[in-house]
Amino acid sequence: MSNFSGIYFHIPFCPKKCLYCDFFSVPEFSKALPDEYGKALLNELGSRLGELSGTKIVSVYFGGGSPTVMDERFFRKFVESASRLGINLTETEFTVEVNPADIDRSWVKNLKECGVNRISIGVQAFDDGVLAGMGRRTTVGDMKKNIPLFAEYFDNISCDLIYGLGKDRKIDQELTKVFELAPFRHVSAYSYARPDRKNAPELLDEEETLLQEREIRDFLQERGLSRYEISNYSLPGFESRHNMLYWTYGSWLGIGAGAASFISGTGVSSRYADDIEAFVSGDGLSSWKLTLREKTEEFLLMGLRVKCGINLDCFKERLGKEFFELVSENVVSDLVQEGLLEFGGNKEIIKCTERGSDFLNVILIKLFDAIRC
Ligand code: SF4
Repeated sequence: MSNFSGIYFHIPFCPKKCLYCDFFSVPEFSKALPDEYGKALLNELGSRLGELSGTKIVSVYFGGGSPTVMDERFFRKFVESASRLGINLTETEFTVEVNPADIDRSWVKNLKECGVNRISIGVQAFDDGVLAGMGRRTTVGDMKKNIPLFAEYFDNISCDLIYGLGKDRKIDQELTKVFELAPFRHVSAYSYARPDRKNAPELLDEEETLLQEREIRDFLQERGLSRYEISNYSLPGFESRHNMLYWTYGSWLGIGAGAASFISGTGVSSRYADDIEAFVSGDGLSSWKLTLREKTEEFLLMGLRVKCGINLDCFKERLGKEFFELVSENVVSDLVQEGLLEFGGNKEIIKCTERGSDFLNVILIKLFDAIRC
């Protein structure tokens, strides 16, 4: 997917901050700010779209934060701007992240009319005790009421879950109830990483975390959703195109306070400061070029997360060097011997084995040490 690209818009507003959250978002903001911010997003899209020239835009993604804070009119204005700028939304995976606490039928219907074709629902857990422990403002009642609304209008629905917190959780019972509300085609299940803050929920021990992860994996696999990336499961054909851009060295333009971009053809990364006012005033963007070593690390870090692995021809096309010029062949052979890595295709693919996926950090430490640039 290296000539493919996507556009990510960051909506940094959340009426209440979850206790485990490390994303950039603010809980307090004036009523007028989301409108002003929306205008700045569209202006910035106009000025930066040229960075994606020569690529095919396959994904548009509104994430956050909580895009559900934005008014219906904002999405209509975005569609007008996209059309003026020549972005063909009908050819993209057009995703909006939603919080079931915020929406009503009119908001959902408006998304459908704007051409959104994929919904990602922040479920995280389906137990009011666990949700309260996370500091989520969403309740099981919100989800029961509003997830079926999304299912009425959309076929391609994903949900996000977090495991590794909430003692004695009955995850398979939670999932059974969630799946009664909508036919999810995709699930992202993230292992909780405890932020360094006093009030953050406690991390479970390794054994219980692993147990929860296995329960999720078994539940999803029984329903035909297979693991195509370390934290992601889908029915065949419903893999997230947007995330695949990150994992396969595609390009993406990230627009909004705190958002990052990467243009694979030039190896240039950029990022806006975590500062909404600066973004609205057109400030706060910095950019830098990755070194060959950083690009190699990025390729390994992202490429080994996905089941399809790293394509060595694509590596050469993007970095201008053979993979084994930059990474020791002996170390890769050792990892293959240990059953953690394997070759695929005609030996032009390197990927983790099923067992290797559980030891990705160990593999990466060894491979990073084996980089020769
Ligand atoms: S809804 Fe998401 S972005 Fe907002 S505070 Fe919670 S975890 Fe963070």
